[in-house]
Amino acid sequence: PSVAELIAAGEVIDRPASIVKELVENSLDAGANRIAVELRNGGITYLRVTDNGSGIGREDLPVAFVRHATSKIATADDLDAIMTLGFRGEALPSIAAVSRVCVTTRTAGNPSGCRYTVTGGDEGELEDAGCAVGTTFEVRDVFYNTPARMKFLKKDITEGNAVASLLDRLALANPAVSFELIRDGRRVLQTPGDGNLRSVIRLVCGADVAAAMIPVGYSQDGVTVGGMISKPSVARSTRSLQTFFINSRYIRSRTCAGAVEEAYKNRLMTGRFPACVLNLELDSSLVDVNVHPAKLEVRFSSERTVYNVVYSACLAALSQGER
Ligand code: ADP
Ligand code: MG
Repeated sequence: PSVAELIAAGEVIDRPASIVKELVENSLDAGANRIAVELRNGGITYLRVTDNGSGIGREDLPVAFVRHATSKIATADDLDAIMTLGFRGEALPSIAAVSRVCVTTRTAGNPSGCRYTVTGGDEGELEDAGCAVGTTFEVRDVFYNTPARMKFLKKDITEGNAVASLLDRLALANPAVSFELIRDGRRVLQTPGDGNLRSVIRLVCGADVAAAMIPVGYSQDGVTVGGMISKPSVARSTRSLQTFFINSRYIRSRTCAGAVEEAYKNRLMTGRFPACVLNLELDSSLVDVNVHPAKLEVRFSSERTVYNVVYSACLAALSQGER
């Protein structure tokens, strides 16, 4: 890969967890409801993401690795209303530029699948392969060709932990999808994928937290808030159990955290942080996710509205929970 390619890749991919994030988001965009992730050495030497989504057609496979050749955005207007998790067409070329990638995939219409192997972003090799409908990405030797980046990787266990907490969040955001994580041969997460948020919370946060959760369901001013917030019994001294999603995309939001805590204060107590898993559904034109490749920070067209709706949603749930 060229220097420009490697620099662009570094914007999107800085550790195994960012590779897993991009691959799993692609699986979700492809309509998968079963996603399995396997790691060896924290994902540094090997990681695999297998899904039962749409698969990629033979003729589309090499194209998927061309920068900005996304299949998800056709017009400038689409950029204002992003519904899919991916939209830049940068992930696959970036991952391929800094590792050895092998994709095995089959679409429903095809009797047989194919495999595409790319190393360091060079032209890949396409061959026939037998496989189930869906897609498997295998990524080996992350940053093998960029020693400067390799140096910034943390210990295997730290990189593996980053992937594990990413999968926790993805599982919380998508209770109707079954997620599995295998680390060095051990299964450390498996969610049922039956749509029940409380059972995902039980697996990720523990039984005490899950038992203390009150459902949240509230709509106002074009924003719908769903999910769960905890009763005071499991309040923590940190925000570690607060998770927010917008249209199922994990985000960091001071606005949302502030609103939850204000509602909590109003209702119950100060100085403690509730656990919560809240998903905001709102028209995607009201939120700008196109801020940074990592896409964790979002801008709302009206922060005030979002604050008010989250506040009211939590207040309503908490007073319900007191009865
Ligand atoms: P983006 O997600 O921004 O479109 P990516 O580089 O992440 O760009 O992916 C490129 C293209 O490859 C996608 O637009 C999609 O068509 C295809 N693709 C990638 N992963 C999968 C998958 N797991 N299942 C089906 N199609 C996929
Ligand atoms: Mg993508």
